[in-house]
Amino acid sequence: MPQIYQLKINHNTCTGCNACVVSCPINFNQLRKHSYLTKENAVILVKNGLATPIYSEEREINCDGCGVCVQTCPQVAIKIICVEEV
Ligand code: SF4
Ligand code: SF4
Repeated sequence: MPQIYQLKINHNTCTGCNACVVSCPINFNQLRKHSYLTKENAVILVKNGLATPIYSEEREINCDGCGVCVQTCPQVAIKIICVEEV
């Protein structure tokens, strides 16, 4: 059964520093492949000064729950929730 990982960002503590965005291995691979990150290929981006998870079931690649961004965030503002698809 496939698993979906949802990122929860604490908007009270997130500073929009972008560390999660640049540390994410999926974002890194997408950046290498396409030379840019957009809401179409990134799994997390900073929008309006706050980290924002991006998920779409239309895409082949979504957050895989690796936890790198959680470890990287200096504000400890990210949590991962694992949701089983039904
Ligand atoms: S690393 Fe943490 S503080 Fe920085 S943008 Fe990401 S969630 Fe916000
Ligand atoms: S959990 Fe891993 S794949 Fe998901 S946004 Fe964070 S660093 Fe990227």
